[in-house]
Amino acid sequence: MCFVSDDRMVSVLCQHVYKVLIIVVLALVLIEFTFSVLNETHYATPFLTPNYTSPFMPSSMMYLNLTASQKLGDNSTTAIAQFCPVIPPNLQGPLKIYKEAFSLDVLQDKLKSLELELGGTHRPQNCIALFRVAIIVPYRDRVHHLHLFLYNIHPMLVRQQLDYTIFIVEQEEGQTFNRASLFNVGFVEANKIREFDCFIFHDVDLIPEDDRNLYTCPGMPRHMSVAVDSLNYKLPYASIFGGVCALSKEHFQKVNGFSNEYWGWGGEDDDMSMRLKLNGLNIIRYPPDIAKYTMLKHRKEKANPQRYEKLYSGNKRYKKDGLNSLQYRVVDAKQEKLFTWFLVQLGAVS
Ligand code: UDP
Ligand code: MN
Repeated sequence: MCFVSDDRMVSVLCQHVYKVLIIVVLALVLIEFTFSVLNETHYATPFLTPNYTSPFMPSSMMYLNLTASQKLGDNSTTAIAQFCPVIPPNLQGPLKIYKEAFSLDVLQDKLKSLELELGGTHRPQNCIALFRVAIIVPYRDRVHHLHLFLYNIHPMLVRQQLDYTIFIVEQEEGQTFNRASLFNVGFVEANKIREFDCFIFHDVDLIPEDDRNLYTCPGMPRHMSVAVDSLNYKLPYASIFGGVCALSKEHFQKVNGFSNEYWGWGGEDDDMSMRLKLNGLNIIRYPPDIAKYTMLKHRKEKANPQRYEKLYSGNKRYKKDGLNSLQYRVVDAKQEKLFTWFLVQLGAVS
């Protein structure tokens, strides 16, 4: 009709019909392209399927290949275990922080419904956790903080569907506190108990304010206590790595753990930050509205006057000062209901 008509109006209409046809064809091509991309995206998360190994997979996920075909519960069941979702479904976001302290007995009773295993362990019942996490807490003489820490953190970790254990590493009386060495001891002792792929090094007085702050180890070391109330929820400086931090087993070993040479307050966290840098590892962080903490009140500890000196020479020392030079003696150990406890003496074993 368009080719034979002389009518001007009809010819104008015809021109538009061609344009409409071209637009429709382009739209169809676009829809087809979009769907094929979506399909590819769907297949681009193979690390959650059994027997897949990728060099880009976070090391903490490697174990999935070993456990993917495991059966859940007792061996007679035929159900094949499913991995837990990457984003746990029951997170609450901002949390109410409990500051009323209870005795350990009352605390155990209050947390009974979580069904923790002896030693402060929990793993999800209906899916395989994506991460096996050891939470290492250096500790001495802060029992009030310890109870509040346990009371607040256990329910959150259960909701995060982790396979985790809390380790309290207590330093014996009589020697200057050494936070970094206690972390090293926690790492070594936890690995003797079972396989962990992710380590969270955690001050006892820092209480997470949001459960979207996942206690997991992504591909790079993560500084977790980004926004702390006592620091006006602001990061004091870019390389800070104190308070709470997460490192994969592989990365912790690569940097030879923490230095053992920081006795008293300060320096050991900056030393670790330097170790990461020297090994080409970048610090990553969650946004400050999620990686939020309340610090329980305490008096300021006496700073170590040698901390700057140690820090300046840290780069020359780190290969022989750390996990490979750690000396300690386990004085006592116990699996409590809410945590695994070690009492240790640091330094040369006499
Ligand atoms: N810590 C402890 N007892 C002490 C000193 C330190 O348990 O006498 C542990 C505790 O886990 C604490 C962490 O070491 O949260 C860091 O010490 P502190 O809280 O004094 O450091 P700051 O708050 O100044 O970073
Ligand atoms: Mn503190």
